Amino acid sequence: MTAPTHPQDFEDLLAANEQFALSFDLAGFDGVAAAGVAIVTCMDSRIDPLGMVGLHPGDAKIFRNPGGRVTPQALEALVLGVHLLNVDRILVIPHTRCAVATHTEEELQERVSASAGVDASWHDFNVVSDQHAALEHDVHVLRSHPLIGERALVGGFMYDVDTGLVRRLM
Ligand SMILES: [Zn+2]
Repeated sequence: MTAPTHPQDFEDLLAANEQFALSFDLAGFDGVAAAGVAIVTCMDSRIDPLGMVGLHPGDAKIFRNPGGRVTPQALEALVLGVHLLNVDRILVIPHTRCAVATHTEEELQERVSASAGVDASWHDFNVVSDQHAALEHDVHVLRSHPLIGERALVGGFMYDVDTGLVRRLM
């Protein structure tokens, strides 16, 4: 297996970072969630998790994965957030037209297999067959969690990628 190349390698991004660093103003910040907010949402590039609720860098802990699910890794982040990083409100925000909620496991495996040119049917993508039920489950997991439930307000929401609106469902 040969490693892929890219016309720009990472140079365009590092050049942009140099510009970013010129006006960098988060130095010395201690990394707590200044607004007391943690957000679990999808990796989807249509989502701006801070901007969509009026927050800025420094304000919130953000945990993202395909589907915006409360996975064991999300729980690690949220327990740390609630106890060590100032979090007292948690928003779980899946979104409309999410790939992991609009495909079956087999469909995603087939598409990845087609892209890879090798069999990918061994890889799990943890698709969501019912977004509302999944959100209900995830919110319940957080509200009943012995290290989270009594310390932070937990809400379940849906982000509409076509309107930008976040709607509270639970
Ligand atoms: Zn998604």
